[in-house]
Amino acid sequence: MKSDASLYGEEGPVLAGISGTLSIALGIAWVLKKPDFEGETGPSPEKNLGPGELAAALETSKEQLRGLIAALPAREGAIFSTHLNLLEDPAFTREPLERMEKTGCGAAEAIRQASEELQKSFQEFDDPYLRERAADIKDVGERILRNLRGEREEDLASLPPDTILVAADLTPSQAARLNPRQVRGIVTEGGGKTSHALLIAGAMNMAAVVGCKNILSAVKTGDLLFVDAPKGKVYVNPGRERIREGRGKMEKFAREEGRYQKLETVRLFKKEGGRILVGANIGSPAEAEFALQKGADGIGLFRTEFLFIDRKEMPGEEEQYLVYRRVAEIFAGKPVVIRTLDAGGDKPLPYLNMRREENPFLGLRAIRLCLAREPLFRIQLRALLRAAAAAGNIRIMFPMIASPWEFRAARDILESCKEELSRSGVPFLPNPKIGIMIEIPAAAILADEFAGEADFFSIGTNDLTQYTLAADRGNPEVSSYYDCKHPAVVALVKGIIEAARRRGIPCFMCGEMASDPEAIPLLSQYGIDEFSVSTDRILRTKEILLRQENVRAEGVL
Ligand code: PEP
Ligand code: MG
Repeated sequence: MKSDASLYGEEGPVLAGISGTLSIALGIAWVLKKPDFEGETGPSPEKNLGPGELAAALETSKEQLRGLIAALPAREGAIFSTHLNLLEDPAFTREPLERMEKTGCGAAEAIRQASEELQKSFQEFDDPYLRERAADIKDVGERILRNLRGEREEDLASLPPDTILVAADLTPSQAARLNPRQVRGIVTEGGGKTSHALLIAGAMNMAAVVGCKNILSAVKTGDLLFVDAPKGKVYVNPGRERIREGRGKMEKFAREEGRYQKLETVRLFKKEGGRILVGANIGSPAEAEFALQKGADGIGLFRTEFLFIDRKEMPGEEEQYLVYRRVAEIFAGKPVVIRTLDAGGDKPLPYLNMRREENPFLGLRAIRLCLAREPLFRIQLRALLRAAAAAGNIRIMFPMIASPWEFRAARDILESCKEELSRSGVPFLPNPKIGIMIEIPAAAILADEFAGEADFFSIGTNDLTQYTLAADRGNPEVSSYYDCKHPAVVALVKGIIEAARRRGIPCFMCGEMASDPEAIPLLSQYGIDEFSVSTDRILRTKEILLRQENVRAEGVL
């Protein structure tokens, strides 16, 4: 049906992408500029930016930094004092001018090259403090470039109310900064069904569509957008009819949510015996509180990397201890699975000066990174052991285990942390349950062997799918190849659950397959013990489980 003319002018196109979350939102577009200057070498008007523009951009950068230093507490302000000093460095003042003169390039390209060369030279230092300065150099280079282009600095933490954020892509750290009270939805050109930014959007109840080609050329800041996330559709400047339809869908969604509410206190059991938990995947204490309100039986996955990203230095033991304890206390008496750091991949940590990798998802990620940077790992393990003593309900889980030696190496380090804590008289839990994520096909194939050593499994189907099918989980071009219900993935999942059952250890699932309405019946037949899902899917998952033959419920109103 053709809609009436838009309330806001000409009715715009309808774009299709990949459905990300369950909600529906109407809001005003806020188009996020490219976050940095990677790939800016092609011909562009930037070529015309010369020495005059460069001098002005340097001056604006200084003014911004002086403003930040004055506005921020001393500790944060100190970081920007370093940036201010860097702006005086000949690498940013004299050398770009020389380069422009010699090669005829524009100011933007000259700054880009200067920043990259300076970053490289700092990355080669032995001293970790100096190596870490490479991230500051990158920041300063990006600031100058933004000012050269006349772009505003985007403050993602304070966007206007009813915003729909439109971007080429969002990094997990950008997504984690969004405030759900301001941002109703997210639409990105890049990203796939299980990209980490999307998982955060789900936890915050936002409407999200990813892999939405041409959204950046079709939308400008200020356009009205209707995001129908379940359908993966984005309506640009919808007409009167479409807006009415959108409001209707939003009301229906709210009514459904209301109906599901009565399932918050329902407890599920296998008819053959044993509890079935529907837990939450979270990334922060705030999300834990939200998950508890939404009826989570526990936390099946706390992605701790969100404590580590988007900051200048890694969190210390005390800070980590307090966060882990807080989450465990929110879920007092219910199980809380805390996963050790899964950085790398699409979650690099600037302060670790990790080398750029050609294939980061096949690189130094998760447990591999922790084993390579043992001091960092030890701090987290000590914090976890202490928090487990204080709260009692914490289980520790190692991600991305492929070979038994990795699990043993991680456990040995854990044992040595216990000895260290015991020598210093610090209270810790001596025997927390230790589990592993099964998310690499190698581990799935060796599930029997692992089941003899681990206290529990949690199947990470997001990575298991991408590694089994060789289809990048974040690349919309291959999203049709990425399918957690592919027979090969299902066969691996079945084998993992059977191995766990043979050895009598519980088997959880924390990948997105656990909330897939078509997969849930099968998974419950196989005997999954905990379905850990994003908060917006907890009650829907319970509702589907409730309808299964082999499931019994208590507490249905
Ligand atoms: C998974 O891989 O399925 C998983 C839950 O971990 P993440 O999505 O954080 O990689
Ligand atoms: Mg994973």
